[in-house]
Amino acid sequence: MIRRKISAAPSVRRLPSYLHVIKQVDTEGSEYISGTVIAGELNLEPIQVRKDLAITGIIGKPKKGYPAKALITAIEHFLGWDEIQDAILVGVGNLGSALMGYPELRSHGLRMVAAFDINPEKIGNPVHGVPVYSVDGMGSTIQDLAVKLALLTVPNTEAQRSADILVGAGITAIWNFTKVKLKVPDEVIVEKEDISSGYAILRVMQQTKKNEKNHGAP
Ligand code: ATP
Repeated sequence: MIRRKISAAPSVRRLPSYLHVIKQVDTEGSEYISGTVIAGELNLEPIQVRKDLAITGIIGKPKKGYPAKALITAIEHFLGWDEIQDAILVGVGNLGSALMGYPELRSHGLRMVAAFDINPEKIGNPVHGVPVYSVDGMGSTIQDLAVKLALLTVPNTEAQRSADILVGAGITAIWNFTKVKLKVPDEVIVEKEDISSGYAILRVMQQTKKNEKNHGAP
């Protein structure tokens, strides 16, 4: 089961972009969208798009393509974005605060119900309407709220310690924005989000382009 999930991960990563394109087409009033159009918009191979969309269970019609509204519903359902999921956040710094106010997450059903910090100046001051509590007592508050998902935006040095408390409080999924490879029990899911790695790719591509230019490559 876990292996199947992992092998589907690249497809899952592409689904939000498909959803964006399909929603645009739907807003423009088209009833159907073809895999080729989606592929063209996103610079992908049509076969890849068709394979990815197969996991939603929606079948395209020859010549017409996929019914746009049904496809939107199916993708959102597959992603679990049609359900509200409560989450907490640990570490209300720059990144944590930004995530708490990011409307796109809310539109995907992720509802931030509480945040935790050690800084007394932050505790008691809601951020984007979300209450900020002290980390003292974080475990019991999480248990009271019966939340299963945590976003982790503490400094790297605090990451493992925070994760241990979260797991102890019954958190089963951690969206980890720190650099630390967390050690958690097998039944806990960790998704690591490294914002620096996106910039690393961009930077290396910039440098490669610059070198190609300097060396007269086409
Ligand atoms: P700021 O300058 O606002 O503190 P930052 O984004 O530069 O923000 P970081 O040092 O990355 O801050 O820390 C992120 C947040 O995590 C801060 O609000 C900090 O108070 C908080 N924090 C640090 N250690 C812990 C911890 N053990 N548990 C919860 N929150 C923590």
